Amino acid sequence: MELKKLPNYINGEWKVFSGDMAHVVNPATGESVTQVPLSTSETVREAVATAKVAQKKWAQVPAPIRGELLYRVGQIMMNRKEKLAKLLTLENGKVIEEARGEVQEGIDMAFYMAGEGRRLFGQTTPAELPNKFAMSVRSPIGVVGLITPWNFPIAIATWKSFPAIIAGNAVVWKPATETPIMAYELAQIFEEAGLPKGVLNVVFGRGSVVGDAMVEHPDIKVISFTGSTETGRSIATECGRHLKKVSLEMGGKNAIIVMDDADIELAVESILWSAFGTSGQRCTACSRVIVHEAVKETLEKRLIEEMKTLTIGNGLEEGIKVGPIINQAGLEKIESYIAIGKEEGAKLVAGGSVLNGKDYAEGFYFEPTLFTDAKIDMRISQEEIFGPVVSLIPVKSFEEAIEVNNSVMYGLSSSIFTRDVNRVFAAQRDLDTGIVYVNAGTTGAEIHLPFGGTKGTGNGHRDSGVQALDVFTEWKAIYVDYSGKLQRAQIDVE
Ligand code: NAP
Repeated sequence: MELKKLPNYINGEWKVFSGDMAHVVNPATGESVTQVPLSTSETVREAVATAKVAQKKWAQVPAPIRGELLYRVGQIMMNRKEKLAKLLTLENGKVIEEARGEVQEGIDMAFYMAGEGRRLFGQTTPAELPNKFAMSVRSPIGVVGLITPWNFPIAIATWKSFPAIIAGNAVVWKPATETPIMAYELAQIFEEAGLPKGVLNVVFGRGSVVGDAMVEHPDIKVISFTGSTETGRSIATECGRHLKKVSLEMGGKNAIIVMDDADIELAVESILWSAFGTSGQRCTACSRVIVHEAVKETLEKRLIEEMKTLTIGNGLEEGIKVGPIINQAGLEKIESYIAIGKEEGAKLVAGGSVLNGKDYAEGFYFEPTLFTDAKIDMRISQEEIFGPVVSLIPVKSFEEAIEVNNSVMYGLSSSIFTRDVNRVFAAQRDLDTGIVYVNAGTTGAEIHLPFGGTKGTGNGHRDSGVQALDVFTEWKAIYVDYSGKLQRAQIDVE
């Protein structure tokens, strides 16, 4: 199935691009499904200029009315959930059940952020002088730039665009070139919901061209980026030069700790879901299992048994549990880490190969893979592989488990399986990640909580939750003096 070539969306118009286009490939089959513009920096300038004008009016629309728009967006997404999920699987490869979950996340975000239209809380607080009133309010920032990855092409877009829009900003959004269809669909939904022209603009194209032009543009006041740590670092460096606010959500190397008193069957089920769901291509995917030596053998045996039951194939077929890898480069990166793991002396006990053959067409499939007896300092224990590969790291104690968990440069998600309430509380205090799960795997964030990580995963900001509003607003402190005379703070206080 070849869909029509995708246009950019600028100033409420669908603009056919006359320059170079890239094929969008279905990772399950290797077939081209559509083509996407490789826009230029000129396209970015056009989008920013229109967004700048639109933002001024949009900021004047009362926030509860902006919220009404997001309710309509959520409603249309709900009505269209199955269609969106199928298109998402088509361009990204994740299995249809997970695609439905991702679309649902976007729907939840729409309704949650719509409600913010009637909150956007600031503070009122007593002033230190008589007959004086003090308060703080959130102000929109202006034109904001969103740069998003391919692994959650609609959920992450909603985590960023909905808070930006409810707060009164205008958006220029560059989706990942691999997964532009969700962006096209979401822009259509905004249009149908009645978003004024120019408030949301979608510019397709390479990060090195379109992304760069956004980072460089003086009228884009905020960059909100999700992607690899490498790209995030270079974006942050540029933003620093321009004194531009930048929110970064980057890589992860997430671990599940299984203690000697854990419910092993629950841990096995959770590891399978966290490690091999989305073929290990979630930022929160579990790629390390830190296991107490007393239960290592049992856990390993049960994992190997259960991994054999995972069905691998085209995610559009109901019942498939593991879909393809996004592209050939992703596949090659995973393969290279299998070689690295073997060289480092970890024991490969399951999987480890690319899957070819008629069942897999020209798609990009990799076997669910398990290394055991990995050591804390091996590259497979430290670096993000972004595929269905897990390393089992045996430890002797709770303290060692925490140390191994915290030894990586990333800090997104962590999890512990234990029945000991004391360890639960110590773990949630000591695990150095932005998200901690107890007796659940490393994935499963809910949209009304902050999402993001510490260390090399982030730079202190959060997506989703009410905290996302901090990225897209400035705090303004307001003092109203109704005393009719000059009152000097810190000086005229009696
Ligand atoms: P990526 O290569 O860094 O790309 C992410 C986005 O940045 C894409 O839209 C890409 O554009 C763009 N980009 C690339 N180079 C750029 C540049 N120089 N300037 C501006 N933009 C640029 O990451 P990915 O491979 O798509 O995504 C996987 C990574 O994202 C993993 O590391 C994963 O852990 C991370 N991730 C993190 C979170 C989180 O919340 N912490 C969530 C999801 C994913 P093109 O690809 O179109 O060129």
